[in-house]
Amino acid sequence: MTPPLIRRPTEAPRVGFVSLGCPKALVDSEQILTQLRAEGYAISPSYQGADVVVVNTCGFIDAAVAESLDAIGEALHENGKVIVTGCLGAKEGGEFVRHAHPRVLAVTGPHATHEVMSAVHAHLPKPHDPFVDLVPPQGIKLTPRHYAYLKISEGCNHRCTFCIIPSMRGDLVSRPIGDILAEAERLLHAGVRELLVVSQDTSAYGVDVRYRTGFWEGRPIKTRIVELAAALAALGRTHGAWVRLHYVYPYPHVDDIVPLMTSDSTAGGLLPYLDVPFQHASPRILKLMKRPAAPEKVLDRVRAWRSVQPDITLRSTFIVGFPGETDAEFDELLAFVEAARLDRVGCFAYSAVEGAAANALPGAVPESVKEERRERLMATQAKISAARLRAKVGRELDVLIDSVDGDRAMARTTADAPEIDGVVHVSNAEGAQAGAFARVRVTSSDAHDLHADRAA
Ligand code: SF4
Repeated sequence: MTPPLIRRPTEAPRVGFVSLGCPKALVDSEQILTQLRAEGYAISPSYQGADVVVVNTCGFIDAAVAESLDAIGEALHENGKVIVTGCLGAKEGGEFVRHAHPRVLAVTGPHATHEVMSAVHAHLPKPHDPFVDLVPPQGIKLTPRHYAYLKISEGCNHRCTFCIIPSMRGDLVSRPIGDILAEAERLLHAGVRELLVVSQDTSAYGVDVRYRTGFWEGRPIKTRIVELAAALAALGRTHGAWVRLHYVYPYPHVDDIVPLMTSDSTAGGLLPYLDVPFQHASPRILKLMKRPAAPEKVLDRVRAWRSVQPDITLRSTFIVGFPGETDAEFDELLAFVEAARLDRVGCFAYSAVEGAAANALPGAVPESVKEERRERLMATQAKISAARLRAKVGRELDVLIDSVDGDRAMARTTADAPEIDGVVHVSNAEGAQAGAFARVRVTSSDAHDLHADRAA
C-alpha cells in the first residue's frame, strides 16, 4: 500500500473520486464533488495524492457489480481509505460491499450526498476556511462544459421484473420543479449548450407529489413533465441551447410533449428527440416484464409523433432472450423493429441480475439463442439506421461541436445524444471550437455516423 500523503497544514485536504455507472450516478457524483469543493476540499486526480477516496458504484448488471468491486479493491490497495457510495452500496444494506471489502470506511446507497459528506467529515475533517467562492455557480461537472445532465427525479414506482433499481433507489421522488428550473438556468448561464434530462422514468415526473403546484419566477407551475418540458424549452430558446429528453415511457401525455419540440435547432429549445425504452413488442413478454405503459398501438403512436414532427429522432432499447421468449415472440419483436424504423436502437441479451424477479420465471433461453437473436436484431437495425442516415447525405445540418483536433472535429446533430448515439465527423474544421454550434454539409454516412464538411 502507498504510504499516506504528508500534507502541510495550510493545504486543503484532498479527496480522490472514482465515478462509475449511468448518467444518474454521474449526477450524484457531480453533486458530491460540488459539495466537497464548496466546503473547501481539493479533488485529487491520483490515489497517491488523496487523503481519502470516494468510489461511486453501479450495481445494475453483474458485469457492473464486478467492475465496482474491482474499483473499490484498487482504491483500497492504492490508497487504503475508501468511502463507497452508489447503487451497489445499497445492496443488502451495505453488507454486500462490506463482506467483499471489510476495510472500507463507510458505505452509502445512491443519491446520498449528505451521508457521503458525513463520512468524509468523520475521516477527513472539513477545512477551517472553505473557499466557497471558488466553486463555479453551475457546480462541478464531470461532463464537458457544454453539455450537462439534469436529474429531475430519483427512484421508480414500477417493478419491471428484470430490474433491481427500485430496490436500490426506492420509489419515485420528484425534485421540486422550481429547483430543477433554477439549476437549468444556472447551467445555461454558465455556458452549457445542451441539457440532457434524465431520471428513471421521465414521463412519471410529479406522480409522487400528485402534480402539486410549484413556483418558478414567481408564477405557479405544475410538477408535471409536460409543464417542465415547456419551461425547459422556453429556457433553451432564451439561451440558444438544446434540451434533450431521456427515458420517456410512452404514456398518453407524451403526445402533448411532441408538439413542444422545435423544428429550428438553431433557435434552441426542446429537441425533436425521444429516448423511449420499449424493451419488447410482444404483449405477453411485456406483461412478464411488468413494463409500464400499454404495449398496444405503439406503432400508431410512433406514426402520430412523426406526423407532428417529421424530423423526430426515436431511440429505444430492447431485451432479447427474456425467460420464456419463443421464436414467434422474437419474430414479433423483429417485425416491430422493421415496421417502426427507429433511428437508434440498443439491444441487450437478457442477463439475470441477482435479486431480480425475472430470475424465477421458467423457460430460460440458451445463451447461444440469445446471442443469435441479438445479432439478428442488430443486423436488421443496422440496415434501417444506415438507410435513415443515408437520407441525410447532401443536407445541411446544425451540429454541436464536441471536440476539435487540428482540422477535424467530432460533433453531434439533434439526432445524437452524447455517449450513446452516433457522431458527425467534420472535416475542414479549422477554427471550430468545442461547445459551439456550426453548420455542416453531410457528405457520406455509414451504419451509425455521418461524415460532413463545414458549410460556408
Ligand atoms: S421503469 Fe422498470 S426498468 Fe426502469 S427503473 Fe423502473 S423498474 Fe427499472
